[in-house]
Amino acid sequence: MIYCVEDEDNIRDLVVYALQTGGFEAAGFADGESFMRELALRKPTLILLDIMLPGEDGISILSRLKKQKDTQDIPVIMLTAKSAEYDKVQVLDLGADDYITKPFGVMELLSRVKAVLRRYLPKGKEEEIRIGEVELDLKSHRVTVGGAEVILTLKEFELLHYMMDNMGIVLSRDKILEVIWGYDYGGETRTVDVHVSSLRTKLGSFGDMIETVRGIGYRIEANK
Ligand code: CA
Repeated sequence: MIYCVEDEDNIRDLVVYALQTGGFEAAGFADGESFMRELALRKPTLILLDIMLPGEDGISILSRLKKQKDTQDIPVIMLTAKSAEYDKVQVLDLGADDYITKPFGVMELLSRVKAVLRRYLPKGKEEEIRIGEVELDLKSHRVTVGGAEVILTLKEFELLHYMMDNMGIVLSRDKILEVIWGYDYGGETRTVDVHVSSLRTKLGSFGDMIETVRGIGYRIEANK
């Protein structure tokens, strides 16, 4: 079950219809109040949450969801207005898994929803991750591009692993810094940029699969 909180009827109807067509159960809510009521009764597997809502706004709802024990592990994708860069950074830092900028297409919506759900699947004993010609072997800590080994530093390896694990999802610089370098690391987000840049160089013609998301961070896309 996926919940969509969106006050614009036509967008909400479109999202619910698209999700159902994509094989998901879905329910729409026009405001935070009705959503919260239903949430108390039944927990969804994912929440699509608009920011501008009548009454409590989406950012406030998101921060409440992430503070409550029984809801903090439910993945959330925010629906944001175009060119609100600040909102995007803020929602990722508050714990949203991704955001979709309006207007969006149905295919984009479905692929983002699937990407986020994939991230929450219990991880099997996967020992290799492959995206296109880039293969990462977790056991031997080796990375190959088109079969040829690429020598990475430990941090570059961890960074690539983290991004490949989250394929299709935008990762903010702060989030990357926190995951790879840890809370205690006093470094700056520029550290992330430096490592991404050297990773790109080492991956050669496949370096451009690491996409820069302006003002936010990075994302690995398979089809680059
Ligand atoms: Ca709205």
